[in-house]
Amino acid sequence: MQVLRGMVDILPAEARRWQWIEAVFRETASRFGYGEIRTPLLEHAELYERSVGDTTDIVQKEMYVFDDRGGRTVALRPEGTAGVVRAFVEHKLYGRETLPLKLFYMGPMFRYERPQSGRQRQFHQFGVEALGSDDPFLDAEIISLAWFFLQSIGLDTVELHLGSIGCPGCRLRYRERLIRHLLPHRDELCEDCRRRLDTNPLRILDCKIDGDKPFVRSAPTILDDLCDDCKTHFTQVQTALDALGVPYTIDPHLARGLDYYTKTVFEFIDTRIGAKSTVLAGGRYNGLVKELGGPDLPGIGFAAGVERLMLLLEKKAVPSGAAAAFDVVVSGFGTGQDVAWKLLFALREAGVRAEWSFDQKKLKAVLRDADRAGARYVVLVGDDETVRGEVTLKDLKSGEQTTFSQETLVERLKTLLS
Ligand code: ATP
Ligand code: MG
Repeated sequence: MQVLRGMVDILPAEARRWQWIEAVFRETASRFGYGEIRTPLLEHAELYERSVGDTTDIVQKEMYVFDDRGGRTVALRPEGTAGVVRAFVEHKLYGRETLPLKLFYMGPMFRYERPQSGRQRQFHQFGVEALGSDDPFLDAEIISLAWFFLQSIGLDTVELHLGSIGCPGCRLRYRERLIRHLLPHRDELCEDCRRRLDTNPLRILDCKIDGDKPFVRSAPTILDDLCDDCKTHFTQVQTALDALGVPYTIDPHLARGLDYYTKTVFEFIDTRIGAKSTVLAGGRYNGLVKELGGPDLPGIGFAAGVERLMLLLEKKAVPSGAAAAFDVVVSGFGTGQDVAWKLLFALREAGVRAEWSFDQKKLKAVLRDADRAGARYVVLVGDDETVRGEVTLKDLKSGEQTTFSQETLVERLKTLLS
């Protein structure tokens, strides 16, 4: 049996790196005041048609949709925002919590795409959403959270691209101008974009085939069509980012692949994993809560692709502390077995990551395996030590070996490892 195409096993060594990056994200989110929310992997397919948009690639080509045994049309979640907003509306959190309500999530997403490096059918996202405020400081907070998180994991080479796609009013004006610009090039567009020209012309800017063609690059930008409110908002976001020293480039053609965005949009892009890769992307979605049956409340969020972050991190040194599963190996020989076994549990009770040396190995093999597993110390109890009530501690890094009373082992190791 083999794993499904586009699905990936995260094996133990890799999983430790995942735990590390998850911990950094949790810590960052909580420092910025974002609390966790967990929503189901399965939702009514209609939720995504209504939120992500029924003319988007995600809904048209990438969703895992099927009828469950009760005849409901359901979908594996292709992204996290729709579920979070559904929960916000369904549980009337807008009436029970102070706004803005600031949330984060992490977990698997599913899209039926052509698998390649950094593109899978089950992949993982870290995301945040803030609901109930249109304050430009909130946009700047979310963007700076993303920036701070990327800095914290050592990804200081990704570039922040910032744009605005205005409100529905701005978009209506822009849409007309864009169609007028693109119509003469209709025959040069791919099949999908010819259809998009009628249904959703902004999507063309985001197309993987046509997006970089010269006549698309030279298309008018929505920044020229922004209304006063959207223009002011965009300026204030930039001022707040400037004050924090968060660097960015204005990208006049930034169009996000989901229909629900309004005003601020942004992407963090790295060019080192294949052609132009977005590792984190987000924006404001002021119409979405209402669209999903709630009050007219604004929202903003982002999602980061964890596999893509991992690919970038592979090009750097593995973060320390992420490699080893335990710090100490305990081994007993002859009459020392019983004492060693009890010391192992005493160490674990005291919070030390200690491992038993299974399968009765020779001393040399114990030391070799401990070293290979990344442990720092080996605790040995043989016949001599047992008679004298002692243990031998070997430091695998320095090679140094000391013998002392069994009673002091736990405290000593705790000090050494702290
Ligand atoms: P792309 O243009 O690369 O298809 P997208 O615009 O569809 O990305 P979003 O929906 O904005 O992506 O998702 C946010 C992030 O999730 C992306 O920037 C990317 O890092 C990650 N991501 C999206 N799709 C996949 C996938 N199939 N496999 C791995 N990561 C993905
Ligand atoms: Mg995509």
